[in-house]
Amino acid sequence: MWGDTVEGWADPALDWIGTLAAAGVPFGAHADPAADDGDGLLLLPDPEAWPSQAQQAADSGRPLVIGPPPEVHADRLRVIREALGALVRPDLDGVLVLRLDDPGASLREHLDGWRHPPVAQSAWDALWGTLSGFGRVSVFCCPGWVERDGLLVDSRSRDRDTWQALERGVAAGVADLECHGHTHLHPNRDAWLAAPDRFTNPDWYRELWPPLEPAEPDWRDQARIIGRWQSACGQGTALVAPGEGWGAGTLRAARERGLKLVNSWGICRLDFPTPTWSRGVGSPYLDEAGPEWFTAGLPVIGYWHERDMAVGGPAWAPEHLERWRDAGARRAWAFADLARSYETPIEAYLENGEVRVVRAPAVPLITEVAA
Ligand SMILES: [Zn+2]
Repeated sequence: MWGDTVEGWADPALDWIGTLAAAGVPFGAHADPAADDGDGLLLLPDPEAWPSQAQQAADSGRPLVIGPPPEVHADRLRVIREALGALVRPDLDGVLVLRLDDPGASLREHLDGWRHPPVAQSAWDALWGTLSGFGRVSVFCCPGWVERDGLLVDSRSRDRDTWQALERGVAAGVADLECHGHTHLHPNRDAWLAAPDRFTNPDWYRELWPPLEPAEPDWRDQARIIGRWQSACGQGTALVAPGEGWGAGTLRAARERGLKLVNSWGICRLDFPTPTWSRGVGSPYLDEAGPEWFTAGLPVIGYWHERDMAVGGPAWAPEHLERWRDAGARRAWAFADLARSYETPIEAYLENGEVRVVRAPAVPLITEVAA
C-alpha cells in the first residue's frame, strides 16, 4: 500500500504519486534508476537520491520536475503541465461521487442509537428523480440479513421494499450496487449472539476487520465475504468497509476479487502494482456541501447513510444534492464512472504546438497547453 487514507504527512514521492493517481495522470514509479525507460517527464521528488539522472535529464532536454509537490493541489498539475508543455487528463472538475451506505443491512433493527424504520418508497423515488439529469449514485449495500436469533437470511426477501426500490434505481440507470460487506456484522455470529453488548456496542457491526479483533483477519476470509456479496449482487467496482474497519488485507482481498476502488476518506486505486491512496480527494458528509471541496479539481466523495433518508424524509437527500449543485457540483458520478475515467492510461503527444491524443478513456478530457 502506498500512502494513507487520511492525508497525513507523506513522503514527497508518495505525495506526488497520490496526486497523479487521483487526477488520472499516468505514471510509473521506480526505486531503482535502472528501471527508468527514459520516456516522458522525469519526476525526482528527492534529486539527491538520483543525482546523475537529474543531470542527464537536464543535459538531454528531457522534461524534469524535482522536489516535493507544491502545497496547493491545484498548483501540482500546473507544475507538471509546464514541464511537459501540455497535459491531457480526465475532466474531474466538479465531479461529485455519490456514496450511499447500508441499504439491506440489518443493523437498522439491532443497534441501539441507530435503529430506524425502512426508508420510505417516496424517499427512494425522490432520490432517483433528483438524480435523473444530474447523474448517478453508488449504493453500498449488504445482501445478507442477520435475524435477532443469529439466523442469516437473504436480505432481498427480508427487506423486500428496500431492494425493490434499489432495483428501480438500477433499472433507471441512476444507481449501481457496490460492496459494503455481506452482512455488516461481525462474521462470528455465534459470538455476537452470546455477547451481552450485542445491541449496544457498534464494534459488533463491523465485518471485514472488526475492531473487536486485535489482529486483522486473513485476507482470504475477507475475500470470501466480498465473494458472497458478489454472488448476490454482481461483480461490483468498489468497496466501502463497514464502519471503516479495514486493513492492508482488506485491500488485497478487494483486489483479488477484481474490485477497482476502495473509499475511506481518500480513494485507494487497486489497478496499480501497489494499492495507491489518493491525495487531495476527500469524503465530506452529504450535509457538508461547500465550494471549497472543489478547488483541487479532483473528485469529491459525498456520502450518507440510508438512516438519513429514513429519519430525514423524502426531501433530505434532494435538498442536500441541490446545495452541492449550488456549491459547484456539475455532475454526480457513481464509483464505476470514476473507475472508467481511470482505467485507460492517457497517451498524448505535443507536436508543433498541437496536442495529439493517441489513447484515452471514453470520458470528457481536459487538454491544457502550457502558457
Ligand atoms: Zn455501513
